[in-house]
Amino acid sequence: MDHLLDQPVLVLNRLWQAISTCSARRALLLLYQGHAQVVSMDAADNFLTHNFFSWRDFSATNPEPHMIQTISMRIRVPRIIVLALFDRLPKKEVKFTRLNVFERDKNICQYCGGFFDQSSLNLDHVIPRHRGGLTTWENIVCSCIPCNTRKGNRLPHEAGMQLLRKPKRPKWRPFVNITFNGGIDRSWSHFIDLAYWNVELGD
Ligand SMILES: [Zn+2]
Repeated sequence: MDHLLDQPVLVLNRLWQAISTCSARRALLLLYQGHAQVVSMDAADNFLTHNFFSWRDFSATNPEPHMIQTISMRIRVPRIIVLALFDRLPKKEVKFTRLNVFERDKNICQYCGGFFDQSSLNLDHVIPRHRGGLTTWENIVCSCIPCNTRKGNRLPHEAGMQLLRKPKRPKWRPFVNITFNGGIDRSWSHFIDLAYWNVELGD
C-alpha cells in the first residue's frame, strides 16, 4: 500500500488550471511554506481553500480514516492544491457553443436517449423560441432529427415527449494533459476533463 505521503495531489496554477501532480509530501511542504493552498469541496461541490493552519483545523473537525500523524497533530492528505497568490475563485465558464452542448449531452438525443453522430443531431429549444424560449444552456438540448421533427414547435409534454434530464450549465473544466500514475480522486474531475471549443453560440 502506498504511503500516505506518496499519494498524488493535483496541482492547479493561479488560474485554477490543472498543471501537474505532486506527492502529498511536497504538497504539504508547499502548504506549510505558504506557496500553495489546499482546495477542498464541500457537500454542495463548492470549492474551499485552506492555508496550513486552516487545513489543520479542518482536519481536526473533519477527520478521515487515513491521516498524516505528526507529533502534535493529525492532518488530512490534500487531494488538490492551488499555487499561491490568487485572490478569488475563478469566474471562467464553459462557452456556450454547439459542440459544448453536444459534449454536455454526450451526443445523446435528450428525448429518445439514442446516441448519434454529431451530424445527425440538432440543437432543440425545449421551450420553443416563439413561446419565449431562450438560447441558453438551460433551454437547449441535443435532439436527433426525428425527435426534433416530431416535437416541432411544441413543448415536450405537448408532443408526448419527456427530457432525459433537465439541461444545465456545465462546470468549467479546463483542458489539460497530465499523465497519471496514481489514483484519480473524484474531486479532480472538476479540473481535468474535456477539450474545449471556441465558437460562442449566438441567439
Ligand atoms: Zn431522438
